[in-house]
Order: sequence, then C-alpha cells, then structure tokens
Amino acid sequence: MKAGFYIGNQTYEVREIPDKEPQGDEVKIKVAWCGLCGTDVHKFQGKNGASLVVPPIILGHECSGIVVAVGPDCVNFKPGDRVACDPSYGCGKCTWCQQGYPNFCLIRHGVAKGFAEFVCPPEQNVYHVSQSLDLKAAAFVEPLSCVIHGLDLISLKSGKTVVMYGMGSIGSLMLQLIRHSGVAKIIVVERESEKRKLALQLGATQAVTSEEIEDISQGINVDYVIECIGGKATMEQAIQIAGKNGKVLLFGLGDPAQPITFNQFDAYTKELSIFTSYLNPHTSERAVKLLESGMIDTQKIISAELSLEDIGDELKNLVYSRKGKVMVYLSKEY
Ligand SMILES: [Zn+2]
Ligand SMILES: [Zn+2]
Repeated sequence: MKAGFYIGNQTYEVREIPDKEPQGDEVKIKVAWCGLCGTDVHKFQGKNGASLVVPPIILGHECSGIVVAVGPDCVNFKPGDRVACDPSYGCGKCTWCQQGYPNFCLIRHGVAKGFAEFVCPPEQNVYHVSQSLDLKAAAFVEPLSCVIHGLDLISLKSGKTVVMYGMGSIGSLMLQLIRHSGVAKIIVVERESEKRKLALQLGATQAVTSEEIEDISQGINVDYVIECIGGKATMEQAIQIAGKNGKVLLFGLGDPAQPITFNQFDAYTKELSIFTSYLNPHTSERAVKLLESGMIDTQKIISAELSLEDIGDELKNLVYSRKGKVMVYLSKEY
C-alpha cells in the first residue's frame, strides 16, 4: 500500500510499504479521508507534536473509512462498516489509564496513521458512523474530540462572555461548539479579514483584531478566553484580557522554545484559572454524535481536497493550510 511519510530534514515522501492483515482485535480500514493537522505541519518542520517525533513516520491521524477485514478477536465491527478513528492508544492497564486518563497512558502511541491506504487500529480506537454522515465530515472526529475535551475542562456557563482567538480549523470547530453552549457573547479575535467574516457566519457576535480586543476588553468582564493559535503574543494577551474570575484555555500548540510570560499579580487580583488541554480522552463518541447531528459545519472550514502526493508541496508552502482545513482523499470512491 501507499503511505505518506515524513522522512526527516523537512522532506515528505510517498512510499510503497507492505500491506498488513489485522491481528487480534484489529480492524483493517480502507481510509477514505484524512485531515492534515497543525501537528503534522509541526512534525514536518522538525518540532514535536503531542509526542516525540523520530522519522521516518507516517503522517496523518484524523481518518475515516470503510472496514475491509477484522482480526479473529474483533467483536463490534465487520467488513463494510463505516467508521472513524481515535488515533491515540491507551493500554487500559497502566496507572494513568486506570485513573481514567488514557491521554497520559505510559505506552500511548498512534494507531491510525491516516496518510496511508489502510490503517489497522485495535477496535477500542474505532467508532461507527451512521449512513447520514459522509466520510469526509467523519474525518473531523479526532479534531472535534480534542475541542470537546478542552471545553469540558473549562465548563462554560450560559450567559457569559467568551473571547476566542484564531479561526483556523480548530478555532472554527471551537466557535461552533461555544455558540451552542448558551453563552451571551462570543468575540473572535482574528488577524485576517476573510476569517473574521467566517467567524460571523459561524455564530460569533463580533470579530475583531488583537488591537481592537485590547480596548473592548477594558469595558466588559471577559469570563472565558480560549486561545486556538499557540502564538506567544496571543497567549500572553489572552491571559491579560481575562476578567475577574476568568478562565483561560490555552488550546493552541505553543512553541516549547518560546515560553510565555504573564503578570502573576494581575492574575492574582482577578483570581484567574489557566487551563491547557492534552488530546481527547473519552470524547470521540460525542464527536461522532455531534457531527451526525448536523450542528457542526465542516464544509465551510475546508480549504482544499488534495491527494497523498500533493501533500509534499502543501507541507512546504502551506498554501491551503493558511486558509483552512486541508483534507486528503485516499480513495476517490467516497
Ligand atoms: Zn489533529
Ligand atoms: Zn495506559
């Protein structure tokens, strides 16, 4: 089968590798779609994603597809089933898994490297999707499940004011969930005017620049700030503009070489809570349900549909990734 590798030194290559048959409870899935994630770009640029990167590695972890075979111990799937994957394996046995935190699993690793014609995750990482949900949208299960976990951590209360930074694909999903949570006001901070327009279309009350939010935040109490960029300046501003009793969620993947600073005294007088969010423990099923409900518009977020071969250029130049979500099709059938 074909698979898209990061082979080190900012080089991507599509290689032919041996096909594998499912063992144990594995589910062999013919991949239909796989999203290109910001962490794939990080890996390509020589930085780490959620885990240490040792090339050569197959990229992609946001995939959907059709089951073509199952291992002898698989119980819940059969050939022909339409599915989406949670790429992050939790062993279920280590101390963190026992405590309910598979995202901290001591042997956590990726089990659905979706830039490949087939993936073979264990069945615990596979989710049924209904006929009503097309497989392109189903490939959003992983990013959406991460967003759901982040929002769970800060437990948004209705009637409150939220400021959200960044209308990349994660911000665009986040915004739609915030909108459905009953908050009174959502102000999106975004530097590009096209994306500010998208923010208004997807339910923002206001869409402004980071200069503008500086003034706006003086006149209101910002109850929640959610940063979906990972920029040093925007993360620092997010903490600074949070109001009394504010909760700040630093969701964007920041650069470990660029630690942020903030005024702890100022944070103290506001009794701020600062949250971070790591992966997607126990949220994939809810992501499937949300996508099936039709409440989340994924099509508006997609900027390009590319082949496995096209991804090399995209990783270098980020032409479409700057505009929105890049989706990779592995098979034209779906
Ligand atoms: Zn991702
Ligand atoms: Zn574990």
